Amino acid sequence: MSFASLQLIDPLLRTLAALGYDDPTPVQKQAIPAVLAGRDLMAAAQTGTGKTAGFALPLLQRLTLAGAVGPHGVRCLVLVPTRELAEQVYDSFRRYGAALPLRSFVAYGGVPLEPQVNKLRKGLDVLVATPGRLLDLLRQGALTFAQLETLVLDEADRMLDLGFAADLDAVFAALPAQRQTLLFSATFSDTIRAMAQQLLQDPVSVQA
Ligand code: AMP
Repeated sequence: MSFASLQLIDPLLRTLAALGYDDPTPVQKQAIPAVLAGRDLMAAAQTGTGKTAGFALPLLQRLTLAGAVGPHGVRCLVLVPTRELAEQVYDSFRRYGAALPLRSFVAYGGVPLEPQVNKLRKGLDVLVATPGRLLDLLRQGALTFAQLETLVLDEADRMLDLGFAADLDAVFAALPAQRQTLLFSATFSDTIRAMAQQLLQDPVSVQA
């Protein structure tokens, strides 16, 4: 199976060829068609399985085909546990989306808030963020989620391990109910399953 047979658009196929990605990984083969179809996802996938491209490629495609965002809006929110992962995931969106007219940004704590507030004013297609900083930005009125199309939780188990449960709940409460939600986790504890139950509608299961 090739990336072309997964119905990815030409700019993405050319970018993947330039990166030397010949074939999709098992996670990508399962995730890409489901995400393109707008389905929710519950994915058991560790780092190294190609999970990031598994969600970034189809989301970049959907964002490109679906239109534009107004001021302050965020169309796709990707929540991650750490600033290191935030930088990596942001880098992946930029790399895979290099040929597409989309705006992405990354926000995490431990650096000044004000530049992030200013950046968010114009609206974004993709925001990669850690939960605590995202909540700070939300409380500052720096962004709205009225136009949110997709929520991604990456390494959901680590976010809970790091004590982000309350921050996550506060973020979820600010999101529109009508949206696509993708949940990635290396492990599936009872707490993660309860979170999936709360957040996902008729999800497709993906196994690495
Ligand atoms: P991830 O599991 O998302 O952290 O990705 C692991 C690594 O695999 C990253 O360095 C990607 O650049 C690389 N990668 C992802 N998908 C593919 C693919 N289909 N072919 C070759 N390399 C890939």
